[in-house]
Amino acid sequence: MNKLEPLYSGKAKSVYLTDDVDKLILHFRNDTSAFDGEKMEKLERKGEVNNRFNAFIMQKLEEAGVPTHFEKLLSAEESLVKRLEMMPVECVVRNIAAGSLCKRLGVQEGMDLSPPTFEFFLKNDALHDPMINEYHIRAFGWATDEQITAMQNLTFTVNDVLKKLFLDAGLLLVDYKLEFGDFHGQTVLGDEFTPDGCRLWDSETRKKLDKDRFRQGLGGVVEAYEEVAHRLGVPLS
Ligand code: ADP
Ligand code: UDP
Repeated sequence: MNKLEPLYSGKAKSVYLTDDVDKLILHFRNDTSAFDGEKMEKLERKGEVNNRFNAFIMQKLEEAGVPTHFEKLLSAEESLVKRLEMMPVECVVRNIAAGSLCKRLGVQEGMDLSPPTFEFFLKNDALHDPMINEYHIRAFGWATDEQITAMQNLTFTVNDVLKKLFLDAGLLLVDYKLEFGDFHGQTVLGDEFTPDGCRLWDSETRKKLDKDRFRQGLGGVVEAYEEVAHRLGVPLS
């Protein structure tokens, strides 16, 4: 398997073609962005921590029956994945109120959400990822009914698996964002699951151990990701 030319470079990862048409290489960079790319910084070691963290979580999800794009780690910052036809939507589940939900609905950060909420957002930086619903997805052809149902069911299965995994490590899974794609007719989890795309709080102190440290300028961003990785038993090198 050989690495070919870059296909796409996003805000945090670069994607390369390979000589297998069904496989891509994801390169997790140190670049960190917030507010649709308005705030950007390079954070030492973040690419490597996220690559290894993502590999660990994707393997746990695969073991729990969630189809994922993850194939194998290739190097400190690179993984081999299945090439998906991505659906341009983000699936967000929330167990505790935080972030945009608090702004939108005027609720207090930290409020328990039981049952958890599910939201779709359109993946479009220029439009600031607006919230959408199933009707928009169907009307604009971003996914079929079957794919919508699969994304919702798989996102909740991920919640069941990961809430427990994190709680056993003394962490609350506050919320997270997933992206899915089609692989030869199957809806498969793509992109990443790392502290860049979820909120994790210490279950005792509620200390933030995710990208909110970067968004809110709290410092110790990669150190917090490393602490989470350490608590979960993610091998970091
Ligand atoms: P963004 O595009 O939001 O700036 P990234 O920097 O993380 O995000 O870029 C990674 C891009 O690769 C995203 O657009 C994501 O949808 C896409 N992607 C992730 N996994 C796959 C995959 N398995 N197949 C095809 N595209 C993928
Ligand atoms: N999220 C993400 N990428 C996005 C938007 C959100 O990874 O483009 C994640 C975010 O890290 C959080 C969850 O999705 O874990 C919910 O984010 P929210 O809607 O609260 O938006 P934010 O406060 O990040 O603007």
